[in-house]
Amino acid sequence: MQAGGPEPPARALRRRPSVAVVGFPNAGKSTLVNRLAGGREAVTDSEPGVTRDRRALQSEWNGLTFDLIDTGGVDLADSDELARAVQGQARAAIEEAEVILLVVDARSGLGPGDAELADLLRRSGRPVVVAANKVDRPDDHALAAELNALGLGEPISVSASHGLGTGDLLDRVVEELRRHLPDEQASDAEESPRIAILGRPNVGKSSLLNAMLGSDRVIVSERAGTTRDPVDTEVEVDGESIVLVDTAGLRRRGKVAGTVGYYAQLRSERAAERADAAIVVCDADEGLTAEDLRVAELAMRSGCATVLAMNKWDVSRTDIDDARARATRKLRLRPSIVTCSALTGRNVAAVLREAIRLAHRAAERIPTPELNRFVSGVMADRPPPQRHGRRLRIYYAAQVGRRPPRFAMQVNDRRLINRDWAFHLENRLRAAYELEGVPLVIDYVPRKGRRNRSAERAGRV
Ligand code: GDP
Repeated sequence: MQAGGPEPPARALRRRPSVAVVGFPNAGKSTLVNRLAGGREAVTDSEPGVTRDRRALQSEWNGLTFDLIDTGGVDLADSDELARAVQGQARAAIEEAEVILLVVDARSGLGPGDAELADLLRRSGRPVVVAANKVDRPDDHALAAELNALGLGEPISVSASHGLGTGDLLDRVVEELRRHLPDEQASDAEESPRIAILGRPNVGKSSLLNAMLGSDRVIVSERAGTTRDPVDTEVEVDGESIVLVDTAGLRRRGKVAGTVGYYAQLRSERAAERADAAIVVCDADEGLTAEDLRVAELAMRSGCATVLAMNKWDVSRTDIDDARARATRKLRLRPSIVTCSALTGRNVAAVLREAIRLAHRAAERIPTPELNRFVSGVMADRPPPQRHGRRLRIYYAAQVGRRPPRFAMQVNDRRLINRDWAFHLENRLRAAYELEGVPLVIDYVPRKGRRNRSAERAGRV
């Protein structure tokens, strides 16, 4: 997905994670897929680009729902052609799945093409689980050991036809999936967005909150015990449940003693830490001040997706384009600015809706294949930096966290990264996925350790 492209990326988000099953014909792929899917009938995959001979079966294990993709059969007599076809399938699998399951017939052992296939998978950087199939009897386990030579980690012995070992295999597959979606659990995904209203004194925070609570789109939830913290307010906005964080002080009419200065600062910090999104209220009559920028920095540093609300727009003398330019120049995360008036109620609902939208954005997950396509696109448009003839390479990208989004990029050498290019990648990501004002964490992870060791093992094959 390219920045500024016509296609909004939202549709691609929140897709079920998938596991692609690859291997040579006769390894027992389809039998294994049927076993792992628990005998469920094939779900026809309506996603574009999925050809007729591929099947996606929905599967569930240890509380995680995912798609098992049977990459279909290839039937070619010529062994070179066959190897090429299987490699082609593996490449497609790498493109579309989070985890690859390689099925090998342990009884016939490693054959021609297996080493190349393993090499292709290893170089992809995708997590691969090896199933040593047709281990029907305990004595056959020794056969599986031979598959260590593939350099893809410990193979797991299974018998697809007898239904043996499939639980262990699913454990491993789900473990790998979870490693790439550590907080993708449903419970977390369904938690209500938490929004904090921040800003320096007298900008109109209390007035804005009261205007929100007075709006007929916002219903204050009176259900006892709906919020864990009594200082928070649970509300329903257009039918969706939202928690407004630390509103106790703001809800009270009139000024609360001691809300300025050090304690107010401390209180904002705590509120920001407990929230997914922050509305940083500013006084439009005074324009965007240095202190407003500091509050916004604080919110984003605490991991909040942030929107600036230019309140008192009814009496404003501020040039909004000027304020926007200043926000973009001064705040690296480029939060957007929405104008509103707590006094007249104008745009108050829009401010809240924008904060909710941002909270959702920060909680979404970009599917691994899509993210990798995006990163390749950025690298093609603007080549990564190089030094002494060596260019930075990103082998593999995955989103490893949410709220705020966190990414791991596997690179050849971290020393090749420079600030400009890292910011460029971050900004492109922000623009493409509508993450303005959303903090992003990008970890550049050197490709070594496990990968090098497996490469060494492979070298001995
Ligand atoms: P807080 O300290 O940020 O909670 O600010 P308050 O909500 O107490 O508001 C400070 C002052 O600004 C009060 O006198 C409000 O009546 C006034 N105020 C708040 N919002 C608006 C607005 O949208 N327009 C105008 N003209 N005045 C506002």
